[in-house]
Amino acid sequence: MAISRLFIANRGEIAVRIIRAAQKLGIATVQGYSEADQDMLAVKLADEAVCLGSAQSKDSYLSIPNVMEAVRSSQADAVHPGYGFLSESPEFVRQVEAAGVTFVGPSAATIERMGDKVEARKAAEAAGVPVVPGSKGRIETVDDAAKVAAEVGYPVMVKAAAGGGGRGIRVADTEEELRKLAPQAQQEAEAAFGDGGLYLERAIRAPRHIEVQILGDGREVIHCYERECSLQRRRQKVWEEAGAICLDKKTCEALCASAVALAKDVNYRGAGTLEYLYDEVSNEFFFIEMNTRIQVEHPVSEMITGVDLVQEMIRVCSGEKLSITQDQVKRDGHSIEVRINAEDPHMQFMPWPGKLTAMSLPEEDGVRFDHFLYEGYQIPPYYDSLLGKAIVHAPTRAEAISKLKRVLTGIKLDGLKTTIPLHLALADDPAVQAGAFHTQWLEPWLAAGNLKPIQGDAA
Ligand code: ADP
Ligand code: ADP
Ligand code: MG
Repeated sequence: MAISRLFIANRGEIAVRIIRAAQKLGIATVQGYSEADQDMLAVKLADEAVCLGSAQSKDSYLSIPNVMEAVRSSQADAVHPGYGFLSESPEFVRQVEAAGVTFVGPSAATIERMGDKVEARKAAEAAGVPVVPGSKGRIETVDDAAKVAAEVGYPVMVKAAAGGGGRGIRVADTEEELRKLAPQAQQEAEAAFGDGGLYLERAIRAPRHIEVQILGDGREVIHCYERECSLQRRRQKVWEEAGAICLDKKTCEALCASAVALAKDVNYRGAGTLEYLYDEVSNEFFFIEMNTRIQVEHPVSEMITGVDLVQEMIRVCSGEKLSITQDQVKRDGHSIEVRINAEDPHMQFMPWPGKLTAMSLPEEDGVRFDHFLYEGYQIPPYYDSLLGKAIVHAPTRAEAISKLKRVLTGIKLDGLKTTIPLHLALADDPAVQAGAFHTQWLEPWLAAGNLKPIQGDAA
């Protein structure tokens, strides 16, 4: 069914990104917003805007009754959930579909299966995709956990089955630690996801985080190559690239093929990402999870392939076939995205929800900013601190890094503290320039004081 009126059940930069895609497709937009977000850019850009409730996410962006009421009253015929919030809630998808509205994403059943990390591991194994050695299902007791840990070998990781955003994960080096940390992970998971279910897998030493972007229309599945997101802090991505320079061609092809096989197995519809850990020493990759939604770092894949992932996911979810075949997805050059957060990297990344008094962003070929900022905008304190992303594209990785430095130096965001100084320091670092890093590299680098205080900085 063709979509004519799209409801955006999200905020921030991704809401703006979705509106732009809808406009290109000639689709009208309705923006849902909380009371704290009435001034946000997406509200100004959308054709219409509907208030979802008060500032706290649970009373607005995370409230299924409130969002459903807004969808109905606005007579939207489709809902785009963005990332986070209700994007991976099967219950939300069911209610959207019961209201006769199209959900821009996979079916509730697919989200239920692939959004649960334990079930997703099973699906991966069934499709012949290697997973990190670990528990067969959820671990029910601490004794269970200790037993599996003894089998797979320490260090182990206990992880929330419903996890996301790096929460509900603990690493244990010994059984004693495991017995102490498992209940903590359970409590964190219960608080964050309303589901305290845990599973356990071997903690891989110094792995690289590699993921594959896929697109499916319920029959065909194609991939838009791989990304590397190994620069992480607290298991959250900080800097992302396409492609992954650590992979040889053969490994890369096997990885992308495994992602397509797994997505095909579940008749995937929409945009999705299969995340893997790559062990450089053994040249092995292991599936860790699937994100059944658009991801924060999707632009780097768009830059190297020219595919508009958000337009494509809207099209396939309206019932169309994929508009491109695998042969038509060509890769070109290298792309880097950095997350610009309203945080002070010199003060333990303390959030900085201030007022943006003046702003300018350099314009150049192969440079893209996905953001939701404008001069005079007051960043609300209630939500995550992502202000936007700077994305560069160049023929080689070295040129992409040079371009990134030039662009970041030219950004003016007065009145806010941001993570730009971190990205500049990373761009100057020899290890980053050589691509010699892994998921456990950035935190010790920060702890060692590699991010130098700014001269004359009053704060
Ligand atoms: P990605 O792989 O796209 O980076 P993340 O797991 O970091 O995905 O989550 C994407 C965004 O959604 C992040 O900004 C994160 O803070 C937010 N997020 C993740 N899980 C939730 C959740 N359960 N509720 C609300 N926001 C979430
Ligand atoms: P989330 O849903 O919170 O994104 P993931 O399962 O994707 O959780 O893991 C987040 C990050 O945690 C990974 O990118 C990686 O850095 C680290 N991680 C996860 N599992 C393992 C593992 N088995 N061994 C080592 N690191 C891991
Ligand atoms: Mg993940």
